[in-house]
This record gives sequence, C-alpha cells and structure tokens, in this order.
Amino acid sequence: MNEHQLDHAKGLAREKRDEAGNNQNQQVAATTQTANTKKKKVISSDVILSVDNLHVSFSTYGGSVQAVRGVSFDLHKGETLAIVGESGCGKSVTSNAIMGLIPQPPGRISAGKVMFKDMELTKMTKKELRKVQGVDISMIFQDPMTALNPTLTIGEQLMEGVRTHTNANKAEAKQKALAMLRLVGIPNPEERLKQYPHQFSGGMRQRIVIAIALICEPELLIADEPTTALDVTIQAQILELFEEIQAKTGVSIVLITHDLGVVAKIADRIAVMYAGKIIEIGTKREIFYTPQHPYTQGLLNSVPRLDLVGEELQPIEGTPPDLFAPPTGCPFTARCPFAMEVCDHVHPATTAKSFTHRVDCWLQDERAQTV
Ligand code: SF4
Repeated sequence: MNEHQLDHAKGLAREKRDEAGNNQNQQVAATTQTANTKKKKVISSDVILSVDNLHVSFSTYGGSVQAVRGVSFDLHKGETLAIVGESGCGKSVTSNAIMGLIPQPPGRISAGKVMFKDMELTKMTKKELRKVQGVDISMIFQDPMTALNPTLTIGEQLMEGVRTHTNANKAEAKQKALAMLRLVGIPNPEERLKQYPHQFSGGMRQRIVIAIALICEPELLIADEPTTALDVTIQAQILELFEEIQAKTGVSIVLITHDLGVVAKIADRIAVMYAGKIIEIGTKREIFYTPQHPYTQGLLNSVPRLDLVGEELQPIEGTPPDLFAPPTGCPFTARCPFAMEVCDHVHPATTAKSFTHRVDCWLQDERAQTV
C-alpha cells in the first residue's frame, strides 16, 4: 500500500468512526427532538414558483423532439413537490428549464413561462440568470462525485459560492462553510474542510453537495434524483436531512425522481409526468390512495409492497410514444387497458377531482359512459 492509499484508508477509517458517532449523535438528537417536539415544517399559501404552459423542444438531425409539452404547476413556500415518471418523460428537462440550464441551441423553450416570485426566469439573459442561480435557486444533481470538483478541497468549494455571491470576506465565508457542514451533519467540520471529495464516502459527499447548494440560503431547491446513486440506508439519512433542513430554513423543494419510496417519504404534493405532460397532480394522499389516471395506477401497481407477499408485480406493458411525433390524443392510449375511441384522437381535458387533485383522462369526463 503506497502513502496515498494509506492516507485514503486512514481517512475512510476515521470517517467510519465519525459516521458511527454521528449516527449515535443523530439518534440522541432525534430522541431529544421527539421529546421536545420536533420542529415542523410550515407551508405557506404564497406561491414561490409558477410554471405556466412550458414547452421545451430539442432540434436533432432526425427532427424536433418535443420533450416538454405544456407543463403547468405552482409551488408554495416551504412545500415539496415531487415530479415523478419514467425515464424520458420530461421531468429533468422541466427542472433544467426552471434553472435556465437548457442549452439553446439545440434546446428551445418554445412557449410558456417560468415565474420565480416576481421574476420571469424564461425572459432573463444568461447574466441575469447567473445572479439567481446558486443564490435564490439551487440545484442538487444525482451523482455527488461528478457534482464536486476533485481538485479542490471541500472548504474551497463551499466558500467559493459565498464569496462569489455575497460580500463576505474569507473569515466570514469560512464560518459560513463550517455552519453548513454542521447543518448537514458532517462531524469534525474544521478538519473536514481541508479534505478533498475522494476522502469522503458517497453519503458524506451527497451531504456536502447539499451544503454547497444551501450555503447562499436559496428559497428554492431543485433536487434531480438526489438519492439514486446512494445505497438505501444512506438514502434514508439524506431524505431525513432534507426534511430537517426544510423545517429549519423553510426552503421550497422540487424533487425529481422515479422512486415512489422517496416520494412517499418527503413529498407534500406529487405531479405525475408522462410523454412530456403532467397527466395527474395532487397531494401525496390523493395520488397514493385515490390515483385516477391509469398510468398513475400502473406506476403504483408496479412498486414492490411488503404487505403483498407472493403477489406478482404488474409492469406497465409497452413503451412511451415517440416524442418526435407525439400523438394528438392521449399519449397513454397505446398502453392503456381502458382506452376508448376518443382517446386516440382528442387529448383529454383536465378534470378537477378536488381543489388540489387534477387529472387528464377521458374516463373522468361525465360523458365517458356514452362516448
Ligand atoms: Fe386511458 Fe383514454 Fe384515459 Fe388516456 S384518456 S388514460 S387512453 S382512458
């Protein structure tokens, strides 16, 4: 073992000790919190983000791919909205469009607008957007190793954001970085600040990515599959961390995921996307207990459940439609066991099942029996 490997091994061994200690501390803290009433998150009626009829397409040699086709939703202050759906349904493109990260060309926001408070993000220049990105709105990506710069220490990466976006001097930026490492549960922050990403485990690296995203105290956090690259125990810790941070800071979260387990843990509302559209949106309870769209029902039926021992999973047969030439009718027609003649030709209107629950499906139309 060379000197570098020895160093790395020592670092990981120390980290294991730290993590064990940290877990113990967290358990003690959790118990104390329960005893002293855990801080609850507060969702305000103020809309912080409003996406209205967003259309995003990409030009390719084969034609134009219509990745997002009329997405609309609001996000309230302190709320977590999960956007779920299969790969290629347009959920990540939607989040990138909100964040101003669609490369234009080949991408194009062909219609619609994104409002963040009173700012229209879709009308801003790159320079104007840079003032918002990382300060008012932050993003967490899937893979913490690629999100971090391997050549810079954690401290340098944390302090960079503070010094770029605020007037803080080096000492103030360091204090802020230490406070963030404590907030995300990194033990020995003074020592850890001087270390490089490779000296941390996957879970710790994702905590650091979250710390970097939160260091300028954004009001909106967009998390794109933030736990996909982590194993399940670390996943649970990171999800708890999101909940704690939201209760402490009041940050609003848009969570992009295909994992309904993650959604069940932390979402307040859920938007189900299919073929570039939101086909159903509602509170977590509405989507999990009374799903109305056959696609949402199919998604829920295809998730393994511990209470259904011996039952076979029911996959959704078929594949999503070609977004080079999206269907004029309901995009789920080819896979839907309840499809009717009209579904193939006319896109279903939106039906409001409650103040919070909306669904796009002809089955909800009052004339469905006679169609
Ligand atoms: Fe199925 Fe028709 Fe409803 Fe689409 S509109 S989900 S095809 S029943």
